[in-house]
Amino acid sequence: MFLFWGTDFRFVVNLQDKTCSCRQWQVSGIPCKHAVAFITSLHNAPLEKYVDMYYSIDKFRAAYQHLIPAMTDKRQWPKSTHGFFMHPPLLKATAGRPKIERYKGCSENKRKKASTSALFVQAMAIIGTTARKVIQRTLLL
Ligand SMILES: [Zn+2]
Repeated sequence: MFLFWGTDFRFVVNLQDKTCSCRQWQVSGIPCKHAVAFITSLHNAPLEKYVDMYYSIDKFRAAYQHLIPAMTDKRQWPKSTHGFFMHPPLLKATAGRPKIERYKGCSENKRKKASTSALFVQAMAIIGTTARKVIQRTLLL
């Protein structure tokens, strides 16, 4: 048993049962960060021992040991005989303004560069403020 604590939380790691009170280890079968912190602190403890057997090479080989037949062309598929055609559902307009920009990929830079027009607006705002101050000073003198 190991107690992992942070500023406002505390998790209990049990190596024998392969559980953690954050429940990520039980759900995924892979030790959570709390368990990894404890396991790596142990002397000469193999981390692979605590990963579920589901992720083993033997299980992978067992899953793909049978032959997976190649798929034929769509025109060669057997026709259905149940007498009706299943149409796709009709799409309804969703609430809110439609999204214009596409979702960025995980490898793309998410930070948006400031456009030249935005920079121009900022520059004009600064110049405008300065010019306004200069004008006010000259009028006061
Ligand atoms: Zn945990």
